[in-house]
Order: sequence, then C-alpha cells, then structure tokens
Amino acid sequence: MITLPKLTYPYTALEPYIDEETMRIHHTKHHQGYIDKLNAVLGKYPDLQTESLPSMLTDLSSLPIEDADKTLIRNHGGGHVNHTFFFSVMKPDTSKDQILIKRILKQYESLENFKNEFTQTALNHFGSGWVWLVEDAKNALKLYSTPNQDSPYLTGNMPLLALDIWEHAYYLKYQNRKSEYINNWWNVVKIL
Ligand code: MN
Repeated sequence: MITLPKLTYPYTALEPYIDEETMRIHHTKHHQGYIDKLNAVLGKYPDLQTESLPSMLTDLSSLPIEDADKTLIRNHGGGHVNHTFFFSVMKPDTSKDQILIKRILKQYESLENFKNEFTQTALNHFGSGWVWLVEDAKNALKLYSTPNQDSPYLTGNMPLLALDIWEHAYYLKYQNRKSEYINNWWNVVKIL
C-alpha cells in the first residue's frame, strides 16, 4: 500500500504565491486521489508490490499486466510520482542546488534564459499537463512538457524540475491567469 508522503513544510509556507487552500486540496485530495486509484490497480498484482514506480513506468510496455491496467498505472502512478517530486522542489528551507545551477548555466547561459524558456514551454502547453527539466539517458538536460500525468520516466528520463500546469494547481487563486501563476511560482522554487 502506498501512502501519501507528508509535506516537509506547512500548507501556508508558499504564501502568498501559492495559497494554503490550494496546497491543502492539491495534497490531500488530488495527490491522495492518484494514490488511492494506484493502490486499487496494484492490489491486483502482488508481484508488483515491491517494484519501484519509476522502473514500472520506464518499462510499462513489458509489464505482464492487462493493457487497461497499464493505462491506470501510467495515469495514477504518474500522478503520484509527479506530485511527490513537484512538492519537493518547492521546499522553502532547502538550499540552492549549485550543481544543477552550473549545469543549467552551461546549457542555457543564464538562469534568466532558462526560466524564460521553461515559462514559454508552460504557456505554449495546451490543456492539462506538466513542464519538465530532465536528464536524458545520455546525461543531457532537456526541457519539455507532457500531457495529463505522463511522467518523464515513461521515456527513461530523470526529472530535475517540475511545474504542475493542471488548473487544479492554480485555479482557486489565479483563475484564468496562468501566466501570473507561472511567474509567481518561480518565487517558491528553492533549488534554483
Ligand atoms: Mn496537480
């Protein structure tokens, strides 16, 4: 049984950029919801209980399970790992990741360039989804968006930074002002 990971900070910690109510609902309703549905499907396959989700998602096509259940793991397993990671990059008490910053500077020349490109990718993404900075199998940095709850693990990539651009991540406070949400979100990214 997978249980909801506790946040390492209070729901108020990201105010005023991300409000307490959004954080509470996002964590206790949305993230919990993905976990509940994931547990329901994994419950059918005792052999999968000890597998890690990243490796399940990376090798999804070869798992010996029904196709409909692969889709459920893609959606709800993705929902679980994506949210766990997203909440972790916003830790208010975490110091900056100097190694990641150096790698970003090497490829994007400045943090400002990187943030602009990341923000533009978020604005260009149509519908629900995520924006990612990842490391690919050749250790190169890549920036892209994915639809729904698709995880970078599906293509063997390792997440380094994530932004949730589902409306549930910002609608209570920002309504249709997606660009204001994204610009404010940079204030609570503590690793850069
Ligand atoms: Mn979400």
